[in-house]
Amino acid sequence: MRTVAVVGASLAGLRAVEELRAQGFDGRIAVIGDEPYQPYDRPPLSKAYLAGTCAPESLRLADQSDTDDLAAEWRLGVRADSLDPLTRSVRLSSGEEITADGVVIATGGRARQLPGSEGLAGVHTVRTLDDAAALRADLENSSAGVVVIGGGWIGSEVASTCHALGRPVTVVEANPTPLARVLGPAMGSVCAALHTDHGVALRTGVGVRSLTSAGLGPWKRVTGVDLADGTHLPADVVVVGIGMLPNTEWLTGSGIPVDNGVLCDAGCVTAFPSVVAVGDVARYHGPDGPVRHEHWTNASEQPATAVRNLLAGTTIEEYRPSGYFWSDQYGTRLQVAGHPADADEVTIVDGSPNDRRFVAEYRRRGAAVGVLAMNNPKLFGRLRRQLRDRAVV
Ligand SMILES: Cc1cc2nc3c(=O)[nH]c(=O)nc-3n(C[C@H](O)[C@H](O)[C@H](O)COP(=O)(O)OP(=O)(O)OC[C@H]3O[C@@H](n4cnc5c(N)ncnc54)[C@H](O)[C@@H]3O)c2cc1C
Repeated sequence: MRTVAVVGASLAGLRAVEELRAQGFDGRIAVIGDEPYQPYDRPPLSKAYLAGTCAPESLRLADQSDTDDLAAEWRLGVRADSLDPLTRSVRLSSGEEITADGVVIATGGRARQLPGSEGLAGVHTVRTLDDAAALRADLENSSAGVVVIGGGWIGSEVASTCHALGRPVTVVEANPTPLARVLGPAMGSVCAALHTDHGVALRTGVGVRSLTSAGLGPWKRVTGVDLADGTHLPADVVVVGIGMLPNTEWLTGSGIPVDNGVLCDAGCVTAFPSVVAVGDVARYHGPDGPVRHEHWTNASEQPATAVRNLLAGTTIEEYRPSGYFWSDQYGTRLQVAGHPADADEVTIVDGSPNDRRFVAEYRRRGAAVGVLAMNNPKLFGRLRRQLRDRAVV
């Protein structure tokens, strides 16, 4: 293998380049990223960066000398428009075509938009640095209410940051309990209570009917949110946090199977052995079927396996996720490992939800399958290691 093209220049793409070099690949690496920035960290976008307590430079995932050491060719601000896996050529928006022996797909995802909200001033999503900068500027220039649509991880973090910035915030969640799909209803309720603890209004079990606006053309700006139950929530900033969509459109016509992500085997290898997928975009074959993770640790760890298989020309190693992620809200650290959604029982094993400091263990047929901690990283670390030792994660 002489040339590898890595498409997507974020966390998973960078880790793939690092793994290629660490695993001895000394050929040419071309990295294509449609954002004009060197790989940067997204978790602070809804937290410290939005709060104004960290500068864009500190978001960089690798400093210049480490990036230089990788000896890769970076095509930034350039989109990959198509891939021909038979000739293994990637056509770029610049008109250039890169022919490679191996391709790493690391194109992640984009924020899902609220239908009808496109182009309406005051309405934001938070996926990219530009998104977060635009939201930050809007928050600085306005003073009325903020409505966050979606009480998932990113919506909750944005609500917490807007609250810390002194803005009145309402979170709207269509499901009866935020985060219940991941944590179950009991622990979802405990986490959602962080909003109300801090005076942030939480509306659950009610959908959004429409956004209201005033002004015309480019001056048209959101004025509030109409809920399905007839309530009107006035707002001059609305943040839509209703999930992401994997970036796979550029693979249309490539013959690579795509279904809510790039379908790949247990080792992240697609239908073509010379093409692997990593990070938020990869829907690999887990023990219970195809699965896609949208967490930092997965995007960071998965490339080691994918690159090993790419260089071997076949799947010699299966990916085992550590299943870890975290969220910071209202000064509280939440940590999750394993598979809480698979559990049939959840028990508090330390502390108390009322004190907002506890550890919950999730069990299935008596065996531990997951752990959730609120403000207790030490015990969380121990239980996480036990899950790993028992090969749960
Ligand atoms: C606001 C926010 C907060 C988060 N907080 C946490 C947290 O607290 N804890 C946690 O565990 N995880 C968190 N995450 C999730 C974590 O950041 C993601 O899992 C991680 O960024 C995924 O990395 P990735 O490289 O797979 O994809 P991405 O980061 O989405 O990167 C994909 C890159 O590919 C580019 N691209 C797409 N299509 C093309 C194309 N055709 N050509 C060229 N380039 C292309 C994209 O523009 C992007 O730059 C957060 C995410 C966000 C957005």
